[in-house]
Amino acid sequence: MAVLVTGGAGYIGSHTCVELLNAGYDVVVADNLSNSSEVSLQRVEQITGKPVAFYRADVRDASKLDEIFERHDIRQVIHFAGFKAVGESVAKPLMYYRNNLDSTIGLCEAMLRHKVGELVFSSSATVYSPGNTMPLSETSSTGNCTHPYGWTKFMCEEIIMDVVRAHKGFSAALLRYFNPVGAHPSGLIGEDPSGIPNNLMPFISQTAVGRRKELSVFGDDYDTPDGTGVRDYLHVVDLAKGHVSAIRYLDDHDGVHIFNLGTGRGTSVLEMVRTFEKVNHVPVPYRITDRRPGDLATVYADPSKSNRELHWKTELDLEDMCCDSWNWQSSNPNGYES
Ligand code: NAD
Ligand code: UDP
Repeated sequence: MAVLVTGGAGYIGSHTCVELLNAGYDVVVADNLSNSSEVSLQRVEQITGKPVAFYRADVRDASKLDEIFERHDIRQVIHFAGFKAVGESVAKPLMYYRNNLDSTIGLCEAMLRHKVGELVFSSSATVYSPGNTMPLSETSSTGNCTHPYGWTKFMCEEIIMDVVRAHKGFSAALLRYFNPVGAHPSGLIGEDPSGIPNNLMPFISQTAVGRRKELSVFGDDYDTPDGTGVRDYLHVVDLAKGHVSAIRYLDDHDGVHIFNLGTGRGTSVLEMVRTFEKVNHVPVPYRITDRRPGDLATVYADPSKSNRELHWKTELDLEDMCCDSWNWQSSNPNGYES
């Protein structure tokens, strides 16, 4: 009995493979390596001492998916595969709609062909409308997305909900992640963005290791305690464990279920910088710059539904996130290339 993990060589996927293997599941990965390295899966095997069945495959390739479903006794699927860079999605919207929608549709079709009826989908807090009050709960309003990436997540949620409505025996968990950061405590797997990082934590750790001159702090005049943006950062290992909880949940819950995965706690950019410097004893030079267009002042989750129904709660704190990010970055200064 195996779990198919699409996009399993990526950042969140590789950490989830570790937690699935630790929980006793067999793992089959389909990833086209468009934004990842197969080395991550070798490291997953090193951490767990267990094998991963890897297919270098595009999830949009129906015959390849058929081959995978025929060769393995797959009972559940976790769908990470997709593009995720907000700015790139604005510049190349069709590439994002094509990859993120086609991969989700093709995967659902293959699951129906092979009578596999449990799907966990990587969604995002970006599906929530900008005007909501905080914290965001699963019933907060969605839509009015401000970029194509956000719309792809919104649309994939709608597609999956329609599939669940139309096909008895097909159930899904839509997991809305807040801001995943950190790395496995072994330092063997972590986030390895290509090019200049868009997100805060990889930019901080690449600055600390000397790959970037300084961090630009995008605005210090927000209506927040220190004026810098506030987000709900969660440790990627906690996030990975949330997927194991969701897989278990679907075993005895039909229908479609939406869960926020976050801590419920907001952290400002400067609080993150100071915590990183304190726990790792490294300076993070920074400069205050203009606000980044489209950024909200404050975003954080109400995770009480996941706490209650998935029996999942974050266990690691901001210091763990900073410490493990640095452990990964300093032992792999050039990511999986080093
Ligand atoms: P990632 O880029 O590290 O992982 C995605 C993986 O999917 C990569 O390994 C890539 O090679 C693969 N992939 C892309 N298109 C594919 C295709 N057509 N066929 C096969 N493989 C394909 O990203 P991540 O940070 O691990 O994110 C995983 C998922 O979680 C994504 O769907 C992302 O949108 C979502 N998500 C991420 C964040 C975040 O902050 N990292 C937040 C919310 C949601
Ligand atoms: N941020 C920043 N400098 C950077 C990257 C991000 O000041 O180089 C800020 C950003 O304005 C936001 C927070 O850090 O307030 C988190 O940004 P990220 O892109 O990581 O996540 P998102 O905004 O998508 O939640």
